[in-house]
Amino acid sequence: MELNYQSMKVAHQAREADEQRTEMRKKSLLILIYHHLLGQGYVAAAVALDQETNGGVRRFEVSDNIDLEMVLMEYESYHYVKFQKYPKLIRRIAEAGERKYPTRSATKRSPRSAVKPLPEINPSRNTNTGTGAKKPTTSVQENGIYLAPQSSDFGLSVSSIKNAPAGECATNRKMTDAKGAIQDAVRGAGIDSDHMERLLKPLSGFSGMSGEMRELATIVSRDIYLHSPNVRWEDIIGLEDAKRLVKEAVVYPIKYPQLFTGILSPWKGLLLYGPPGTGKTLLAKAVATECKTTFFNISASSIVSKWRGDSEKLVRVLFELARYHAPSTIFLDELESVMGQRGSSMGGEHEGSRRMKTELLVQMDGLARSDDLVFVLAASNLPWELDHAMLRRLEKRILVSLPSSPARQAMISHWLPPLSCTGGVELRTVLDYEALAKEMEGYSGSDIRLACKEAAMRPVRKIFDALESHQDDDTDMPAIQLETVTTADFLNVIEHTKPSARNLMDRYTAWEREYQSV
Ligand code: ADP
Repeated sequence: MELNYQSMKVAHQAREADEQRTEMRKKSLLILIYHHLLGQGYVAAAVALDQETNGGVRRFEVSDNIDLEMVLMEYESYHYVKFQKYPKLIRRIAEAGERKYPTRSATKRSPRSAVKPLPEINPSRNTNTGTGAKKPTTSVQENGIYLAPQSSDFGLSVSSIKNAPAGECATNRKMTDAKGAIQDAVRGAGIDSDHMERLLKPLSGFSGMSGEMRELATIVSRDIYLHSPNVRWEDIIGLEDAKRLVKEAVVYPIKYPQLFTGILSPWKGLLLYGPPGTGKTLLAKAVATECKTTFFNISASSIVSKWRGDSEKLVRVLFELARYHAPSTIFLDELESVMGQRGSSMGGEHEGSRRMKTELLVQMDGLARSDDLVFVLAASNLPWELDHAMLRRLEKRILVSLPSSPARQAMISHWLPPLSCTGGVELRTVLDYEALAKEMEGYSGSDIRLACKEAAMRPVRKIFDALESHQDDDTDMPAIQLETVTTADFLNVIEHTKPSARNLMDRYTAWEREYQSV
C-alpha cells in the first residue's frame, strides 16, 4: 500500500515537473519572440504581446546563447540529419472556400515515381522554368510588343499598369508601396521572402577548422553570400542559347543528379564571357534562385581589396563553406582581375596574390574530383586575359553576347511600356520599338536600360521647376501631367549615349572560335 502511494507520488511529481517545463518552454518562446520583434523594430507588436501577457515577457531575457534564428537553424539541422531534407517552416493558410488539405489523389505518388528515383514530370513547372517562358504579368501583343510589366527596376520605380484608366495609377502606386514596404521589412529582418523556408545551417556545425578559420568563415558568411538573388529565367530577356546551356550545365545536374553520372558527370567550372552589361551576373543569379542553391557572390574587388592579406585562406574557407552549405554556386565575377595570366605581370606579382591563385586552382581540382554539388560560375569581360591554368579548369565556356534585335526590342518595351506609373504619376510612351531596336545595334542590355532610364527622366525633369516653386505656396498640389516620351525623344537620347562594347564583339567571336569548349 505504502509502495503504491510512493509510486503515485513520484508519478505525480514527474507530471508536475513536466507541466512546469512545458510552461517554461512556452514562456521562453514568448520572451524570444518579444525580443526578436523589438530587435527587428516591430515595437507595436512587441508592446501588444507584452500587454497580452500582462507584462510577463518584458521583465525577462533569454540566455545569451539563444535567439530565434539560432533555434530555427538548429531545428533545420536536426531535421536535415534525420530526414535528409530541410523542413518547410511556413505554409500558406487556406482561404475561405479553398480546400484546407490537398485531396488524396493530389498527394498520392504515382507508382512510377516509386520505382524511378526521378521526380514526376510536372508540365506547369516546366513552363515556368522553360526557355523563353514569359512573365505571367507580361503579355505580348500581336505586333510583338510587350505590354506593361508590373514593375521596373529603375530607381524611379516605373511600376506599370496595363490599360489602366486615369486615377488608377495612384491606387496602384499605393499597393506597390505597401508591397515594397513589406518586402523591405522582410529584408530588414534578414529573411528573404523567397528563401524563407531555407535558412542557412548554423556555423557551429562547421567542423574541422581552427579558431582563425572559423572566424574567417563567419566573416565570409556575413559579407559575401546572399540567400536568394531573386532573379528568374523570365527576368532575363533574350539570351536563349546561353540560358539553355547554363541550364544543361548546372541547373539540371542539381535537379536531376541521378542522370548526371559517368560520362555525363556535371561540369564543375563554367565560364560566362562576353561584353560587360549583357546579363552574365543575371544568369548566375537565376541559377542560384531557381535551384535554391546557396549563392556565394564573390567579386574580384572583394577578394583583392578586402582580403589582400588573407585571400589565400579566404579562398579555402570559401570552398569549405560552399561544400558545407551544398548545393552551392560560387560566382566569381570579373575573373580576369584575380586570375589574369600569371606571366603578364611577372616580377611585379605579389607573392600573396600568386598563392591565392594557386589555392583557387587547387580548390577547383578538388571539386572536379569530388561528388559535392558545388559549382563555380565565373564571369569575365576579357577572357583573353585569363590564366590558361584557370581556363583549363573552366571546361564549359559560354558566350553571353550583345542582345539581338528582337531582344533589344523586348528590352525597350519592357523598360518603357506604353503606359507606366512613376511616383504616382502616369508616364506614357509612344515608341516605334522596332525602329529603335534597329538603331541600338551594338548596345548591351545595361546600355539599353540606361537609355530607357534617361528617356523616362526627361519629362520628369521638366516638372521639377513646377514642383519646387509649388513648395513655397500652400495651395493644393497641381495635377501633374508628364509629357509623352516619343520616338524622336528616344532617338535624341541614343545620340548622346554610345554603346560600350560594340568594337570588342569581333574579339569575343574570335576568342570563341579558338576556345569554345563544345
Ligand atoms: P554583366 O554581364 O556585366 O554581369 P549584368 O548581368 O550585371 O551584366 O547586367 C547589368 C544590368 O543590365 C542588369 O542588372 C539588367 O538591369 C540589365 N541587363 C543586361 N542584360 C539583360 C538581359 N538580357 N535581360 C534583362 N536585363 C538585362
